[in-house]
Amino acid sequence: MRVLITNDDGISSPGLVALVRTFEAAAETYVVAPEHERSATGHAITLHKPLRAHPAVIPGSSVRAWATNGTPADCVVLGILDLLEGRRPDVVLSGINVGPNMGRDLTYSGTVSGAMEGAIFRVPSIAVSIGAFRNPIFTVAAEFAMHLARAILERGLPDDTLLNVNVPNLPKEEIGGIAITRQGPKRYVSRLEKRTDPRGRTYYWLTGEPAPLPDEEGTDSWALAQGRISVTPIGLDLTDGGLREAMEAWELQIPR
Ligand code: MN
Repeated sequence: MRVLITNDDGISSPGLVALVRTFEAAAETYVVAPEHERSATGHAITLHKPLRAHPAVIPGSSVRAWATNGTPADCVVLGILDLLEGRRPDVVLSGINVGPNMGRDLTYSGTVSGAMEGAIFRVPSIAVSIGAFRNPIFTVAAEFAMHLARAILERGLPDDTLLNVNVPNLPKEEIGGIAITRQGPKRYVSRLEKRTDPRGRTYYWLTGEPAPLPDEEGTDSWALAQGRISVTPIGLDLTDGGLREAMEAWELQIPR
């Protein structure tokens, strides 16, 4: 198995290091990751400035790795189109992100977008996140990613799909199983801190906190609240089928 690993927390992130250490023992492993954190950059790509990739070292590992000034999606492009020298990966892995990527997070997530870019290249792809921002335990997430990658190699994934995995931040013995879930409605409520800088000018700092929504059964956040690993199959096709049908009745016309 040949894997390309990226993330959005940057090449030094402990989640990426944990994933690399688990995979390098069993797979031909390559890393192309942002040199600095690029969380919440979504599916941005770099079109208007040079992209650079420097060889990098993952501590305690001998994998071939590059740090780039690009986004997670850029990293996947760089890996597949050049750095891996034509060795097409069997799987793209993005993570392990520190913090969950569920519900509306998917719209903003650099982690998920790294995997989406892999899917656009028709490489089976997995985004992996851990459900806590503090004291993350990566062991189960890394081992489960390996298990899932092997399952994908055996069974394949349909074109234009990927898997979004969220793992509860629990020791292995406390994980309550695996749930195949749907993307839930969980979101953050944006908050804008308005402040004044030392020169008397206004600046803003965007923050947010989880909206107090119940965890709907069968969703990603529901699984995590139950201590289960959430695996959400995601499609690249963003069409809303119901609204498409309903809009046929609008009888829209080109204005005269
Ligand atoms: Mn991140």
